[in-house]
Amino acid sequence: MCGRGTISGMKSVICNWKMNPPTFTEAKRLFDVTKKLAAVYKNAEVVIAPPTIFLRELAKGYRGTRVEFSAQNIFWEESGSFTGETSSIQVRDAGATYVIIGHAERRALGITDENVQHKVPVSLKGKLDPIVAVGERVRDTHGEYVHEVRNQITTALANVPASKFKNITIAYEPVWSIGAPEAPDTNSVHQMMLLVRKTIADAFGEKKMKSIRVIYGGAVNNENAKDILSVPDLDGVLVGRASLDPYRLEAILQAAHDA
Ligand code: PEP
Repeated sequence: MCGRGTISGMKSVICNWKMNPPTFTEAKRLFDVTKKLAAVYKNAEVVIAPPTIFLRELAKGYRGTRVEFSAQNIFWEESGSFTGETSSIQVRDAGATYVIIGHAERRALGITDENVQHKVPVSLKGKLDPIVAVGERVRDTHGEYVHEVRNQITTALANVPASKFKNITIAYEPVWSIGAPEAPDTNSVHQMMLLVRKTIADAFGEKKMKSIRVIYGGAVNNENAKDILSVPDLDGVLVGRASLDPYRLEAILQAAHDA
C-alpha cells in the first residue's frame, strides 16, 4: 500500500466507477489516464474502485505505487454457497487493498446496517481497509437524519478491534447528493465531518476517533472540488461520475494535491 493519508497527511480521492465503463478496453484506457494523473498530482492518495470483473486484470498489469485498488462490495462470509457473491479474500487476491462497504446503492438493494456490521471485520481479516459509506436518505427539519447517521456509524464499527480503527475510512455520503447536480454547501459538509468524528469519539473514544479517516462523497466535481477539499476535518472525497471523466478528474486530483 502506498501509505494512508492519516500518516502522510495526504487527501484521498476514491474513484468509484460503479458499473462503468462497459468494456475492459475502455476500463484500461480510463485506468491509464488516472494512473498518469496520479503520477502528476503526487500529494493525493488515489484509489480506484473498478467493477469486480476488471479488478484483477487492471491490478495485474500495474507496477506503480501511486494507485491502489478497492472493491465496490464484498460478502460477509469468506467462502461457501453464496451464488453471485465475492469474498474479501477473493478481492484481496485480485489486487484490492480497500473495499467500499454499505454504499447507498447497495443499501438501496437491501443491505442493512447489520450486514454492514458483519462485513467490516470480515474485510479487516481479509486485509482490506474498509471505506464505510454512511449518509441519511433525506434531510428532515427535526434532526432525525442526525440519529440515522450516528446509528449507521456506531452499528458499522461495533465489532472493530481496537487496533484496527486506524484502517477505517468513513465516507459520509448523503443519499440525496449522490448523483445529484450539486453538492451541499461547505458549511454543511463541515458540520457532518464534525458529527461523524463526534459520534466515533462518543461511542469509541477520542483516540480511536483520531485514527479514523473521514471523507465526503456526493456530486463532487471539477467546479466544487477545491472548496470541498478545503473543508477542515475532511480527509478526502469519494467520487462517482466525475471519476469517469479525465478532465473533471484532473481538477479534483489537483485540488486534492493542493489542499
Ligand atoms: C458515489 O458513487 O458514491 C457518488 C458520490 O457518486 P457521484 O459523485 O456521481 O455523486
